[in-house]
Amino acid sequence: MTAGIQAYPNLLALVGNTPLIRLNRIVENFKGEYYAKWEAYNPGHSNKDRIALHIIEEAEKKGLLKKGTTIIETTSGNTGFSLAMVSMIKGYECILAVSSKSSEDKISMLRSMGAKVYVCPANVKADDPRSYYQVAQRIHQETSNSIYINQYFNALNTLAHYKSTGPEIWKQTNGEITHLVACSGTGGTISGCARYLKEQNPNIRIIGVDAYGSVLKKYHETQELDPKEIYPYRIEGLGKNLIPSATDFDVIDHFEKVTDEDSAHTARAVSKNEGIFVGYTCGAAVQAIKQLHAKGEFDAKSKVVAIFPDHGSRYISKIYSDQWMKEQGFFDSDHVEASNKVEYIR
Ligand code: PMP
Repeated sequence: MTAGIQAYPNLLALVGNTPLIRLNRIVENFKGEYYAKWEAYNPGHSNKDRIALHIIEEAEKKGLLKKGTTIIETTSGNTGFSLAMVSMIKGYECILAVSSKSSEDKISMLRSMGAKVYVCPANVKADDPRSYYQVAQRIHQETSNSIYINQYFNALNTLAHYKSTGPEIWKQTNGEITHLVACSGTGGTISGCARYLKEQNPNIRIIGVDAYGSVLKKYHETQELDPKEIYPYRIEGLGKNLIPSATDFDVIDHFEKVTDEDSAHTARAVSKNEGIFVGYTCGAAVQAIKQLHAKGEFDAKSKVVAIFPDHGSRYISKIYSDQWMKEQGFFDSDHVEASNKVEYIR
């Protein structure tokens, strides 16, 4: 920027270039150094700003979008918010089919960006007409002048991270990164970063984080999509009941599974110990680091980068609510309620 008014042309100029932050207390006494790539610094508060902007701008370059075109997507919330934000700024309509697992907060946020939202049952098969994939497909077919983003099967999702997140991590770690730990949903983040990082140094270990109730880990290990692996779980945005083509399983070295309960408590602990108000999957990533550290994955020379996809403000009525945690049965002798109780002055 030169002299005069120092302003960005609009919010979209701020997508990407998120900070890398050293983790301290949460990994005290761990071997190696641990860093968080804090994606909540994107203007839409998650890693999904990158793919929303990239996919829409690629469609613009191909001449596929006109003023008033409807952008349609299935989303656990974050992709929807980013698409709604980018669509609104650029003058497109946005329709989103979301899973009933998405928090009320997330749904209200999508509506605040002007999107039309359809809430679809979470625990039905991907080919069920009520699933959010099928609902989005149907709306796309019925809406003329619309495009379907299809993030799970869109190579541009992975490319967005290959072009931005991966190079940023390489630069920010001065090429010293030894491990990348990233939750895998569509797999775009982990696969795009991994492709770029492995081109720079093939020895970098790429670790995906998966949920119990998701098929990804078993598929990676056996090339078999085992329906027995599929059952309901709580964490939003992590794991899958199908195999996304946006995931490049060849560049991922290992998948680590984490539980809903451990991830929730670890997210709360990260917020409390680092002052970084993290989302649920940030907790999942740190939980995976804890498990892998216990298994001897890291040594004193390890420089581990964990992707922190989104902000804790999206989970206030979930993992940051003692009431919600209690309803899930997440408090027991190992995991207790927050000790800093609220005092009511009457
Ligand atoms: N964390 C959260 C909160 C997400 O919404 C997502 C996206 N589904 C991910 C992690 C995983 O990112 P990706 O889809 O790029 O694998």
